[in-house]
Parts: sequence; C-alpha cells; structure tokens
Amino acid sequence: MPNIPVVETILNVNDQLAEKNRAIFDRAGLLALNVMASPGGGKTSVIARIIDTLRDEARIGVMDGDIVALDLEGFAAQGIPVSLINTGGNCHLDANMVHSALPTMDLDALDLLIIENVGNLICPAAFKLGSHLNVVIASVPEGSDKPYKYPAMFRGADVLLLNKMDLAAYMDFDVDYFRYGVEVLNPGVAFFPISCRTGEGLDAWHAWLRARLAEKIQARA
Ligand code: MG
Ligand code: ZN
Repeated sequence: MPNIPVVETILNVNDQLAEKNRAIFDRAGLLALNVMASPGGGKTSVIARIIDTLRDEARIGVMDGDIVALDLEGFAAQGIPVSLINTGGNCHLDANMVHSALPTMDLDALDLLIIENVGNLICPAAFKLGSHLNVVIASVPEGSDKPYKYPAMFRGADVLLLNKMDLAAYMDFDVDYFRYGVEVLNPGVAFFPISCRTGEGLDAWHAWLRARLAEKIQARA
C-alpha cells in the first residue's frame, strides 16, 4: 500500500505548519476560528452575525477560502479587514494556504480572526489550520443524518451550530436523531440551534464565543 505513507507525510507537514500558524496567532494574542460547513450551510451569515454582535467589543478580521471575493465585499464595506485565500477551486484550506495569507493582515491589530473554510464537510476536517476553535455549522435543510455521514467533521468540532432552525417546522428534521449522532462522536460538545435569518439562538452562541474571546484576551496580560 504505497499511497498511505505519502498521505501521512503530507498531513505531518501540514500539522507542523499549523503549529507555526498557531504560534503566530498566540503571539498576536488573537483567537482564531476555522468555520466549516457545506456550501450554503450559512458560513458567511454566521460570520456576519458575529460581526454585528461583537464589532464594538472586539477587533475582527475575516479570511475566506474561496475563488471569488463576493462573500467578503459586505464585510470590507463595513471596515472589517478581509483577505481572500484564493483556493483555485481546491476543496479545502490547508495550513500552507492560511500561512501564505497571514502577511496580508495586521494580526496585532486583531482580537478575533475568522477563517471561512471551503464549503465541504469532508476534507476540511483533515487539515488543521492552526486555529484555536473548529466551528462546524450544520443546517436543517441538509437533514438530520449528517453526523452519521461525515463523522470526522462532527468529531473535530469545538462548537456545533445547527442553523436555519426557522425551517424546522417545514422539514422532517429529527433533532433527537441528529443530537444522538453528535453525542456519540463528540460527547458534550457545545451545541447551539440557531437561525441567522430570525436571530433565534444567537444570544447563547455569541455569549459562548464572547467567553472564549475573553479568556484569550485575559491570557495576554
Ligand atoms: Mg460563504
Ligand atoms: Zn479537499
């Protein structure tokens, strides 16, 4: 099986670079998030809501792994520092892509760096970026079986958001089945059912994030 050692080598190199990124983030004293979801799961909306809530209390920057800067234009218009990590159509971000983008941003001037990964529930789970927290977003229209189909993504989550809860009344989404699948893979993971459209559940999620941010800022002193 000649392929397996090659894959392991690539991942080890990635892990080493992720550690470098982490050290850079820690030196800057910022909290870095790796936001992952399917295409259309709500990554950009979740980020927009974080900015709305926290922009007066934290200096926020956004990096987006994408092929076009479309999702970033709204943030940039609000004066948020943004950077496009051009993936060239790649299906995930890796530590090297993030590392290459770091010089485009003044990290010392940030408290919170939000990295929007490529829309994909499979391979982004395998590539550490050096971020402190994996924010995984599932959404109601995707169905309640996602933890069973994409276990690595759900196992690696530090916080899990279930978005588009406003649609739950119209869809056969089995919350108990979903939660059971998550609990088996990642017992006790922070879990917030939310709707970026209606605002449902956002207070609890933002309070959780605010507490992580406070820990990070306190650690600077
Ligand atoms: Mg997006
Ligand atoms: Zn990929």
